[in-house]
Amino acid sequence: MITASYENIEYIEDRVGPFNMKMRLYIYLVDGLLIDTGASNFEKRYSPLYKSWNIEKVAITHFHEDHAGLAAWIQQNIGAEIYIHSSAVDKAKLDSKFPFYRKYYWGNMKGFNALPFSDCLKTEKHCFQVIHTPGHTDNHVVLLEEDKKWLFCGDMYVASRQKIAFIEENMSETINSLEKIAKLNFRHLFCAHSGIHHKGKEHILAKLDYFYKLREKIYTLRKSGMDDDEINKIVFPKKRLITFLSGGECSSKYIVSTI
Ligand SMILES: [Zn+2]
Repeated sequence: MITASYENIEYIEDRVGPFNMKMRLYIYLVDGLLIDTGASNFEKRYSPLYKSWNIEKVAITHFHEDHAGLAAWIQQNIGAEIYIHSSAVDKAKLDSKFPFYRKYYWGNMKGFNALPFSDCLKTEKHCFQVIHTPGHTDNHVVLLEEDKKWLFCGDMYVASRQKIAFIEENMSETINSLEKIAKLNFRHLFCAHSGIHHKGKEHILAKLDYFYKLREKIYTLRKSGMDDDEINKIVFPKKRLITFLSGGECSSKYIVSTI
């Protein structure tokens, strides 16, 4: 784990997971606003830093354990206000337990009391527009600081070419949300897994282009009479280890079935 800064944004850059299955993770603090918390498995690693940072508010981009796993700890130990999309306020109150493969990476998630986002989240120096972007989860939001042209995008980017999806993801909604994001006035993209991209709009457009081409291919194959399993084998021939480890919860077939 390292910490670094860009303008008045401080951030954690971390690599988690075993040898060749490492994932990168970025957590941002801007003007007293922590954007996502990291996972409960990293309490010991992040808590000294969180105690030293001046965290007044926490914005959870979406209700996944690598983004909200330390929200309960922050609530109990720092007392910051925590915000999440209104549709996740109730479930955030409950403790979440996950299957082994998720617990191994990130750990379980304790319940916390969150406030629903309004359209705008203010800090002393900034105003962040909160934009609902369902798809990756139904409660996903991105935060836009239009004066600075910053977009904190949670898991809406990650990579241009998405080849795997969770069982709960909906790619048609993801495409709609990416189209919404592409119209926003931003330049710098702050991604939770791939870091800071200063040509941020180009990254979002590249991801959209990938999905448009993929959608066309899937529609064509469907028209020829193939079912989604057959299409999946053609479009994503390489099977990934995580699909087996997750017992199929994480698979390319959900990309095909939701397009
Ligand atoms: Zn996520």
